[in-house]
Amino acid sequence: MYCPNCGAEVRSGERFCQNCGAPLAAQQAADLSAALRAAREFSGASAAAAPMEGLSETPSLTQDFAVTRERFNLILGGTLLWGFLMNILFCVLFGRAAAQLPYGAVTIAYVILAFTGILINTRSQKPIWSFVGYNLVVLPLGLVLSILIADAGAEAVRETFQITAAVTTGMLLLSNWKPAFFARMGPCLLGALLLTLAAELALFLFQRSFELTNVIVALIFCGYIGFDWARAQQRPCTADNAIDSACALYLDIINLAMRILASRSRRRD
Ligand SMILES: [Zn+2]
Repeated sequence: MYCPNCGAEVRSGERFCQNCGAPLAAQQAADLSAALRAAREFSGASAAAAPMEGLSETPSLTQDFAVTRERFNLILGGTLLWGFLMNILFCVLFGRAAAQLPYGAVTIAYVILAFTGILINTRSQKPIWSFVGYNLVVLPLGLVLSILIADAGAEAVRETFQITAAVTTGMLLLSNWKPAFFARMGPCLLGALLLTLAAELALFLFQRSFELTNVIVALIFCGYIGFDWARAQQRPCTADNAIDSACALYLDIINLAMRILASRSRRRD
């Protein structure tokens, strides 16, 4: 592969360019995570939405159960918060240790575990299994994030955090305001994401910069945040649907953050 900053050839799995010192891990992780998010869309589409009839009357984590809209959003928000708290905890506790791990092996483990987690999360109709699947995405990603954060430097991380938080809040408000508009965006977003990832692969082969595709993919994930929130509000209110929606939103927000971090990390050099 080639350094997107200076064009020098670098061995795959290297976290830094030997020629210019640009951090490469953020871009690699962003590309892989976008591909995983696209895969989630296909896995989710082929798994039928939980029918409202036949739901458990008494709330039990081993069987899906109906909840009120308020409780649905509480479970969704709580699951999302759990993911981010786990990530922050991981970065604080193991950030330095994680940066010593072989990055190539971490990446492979992340992709395998996260893909398995996505399959379990989207296919299972039981809240407990969907939550296990969610954690298979969140925890390995936390390890990857802690390495990216160690590489990027405090300034880039702070900027990424602030922009992501502000943009996410804005998109959720917009989606609440115009849910019908966002709910229709699904096929457009998936098409745009797949096209941009294909373009990114081509750029990668021709040693070109990722600046523009990073902006485009960041915008697509802004759309996905709005879309997934609108879609969550239209789904039947069950515990399993709340956890599945949280997993989709988590991936959208992290993908947005990774694109911002990738462009910030490069600008530093
Ligand atoms: Zn370079």
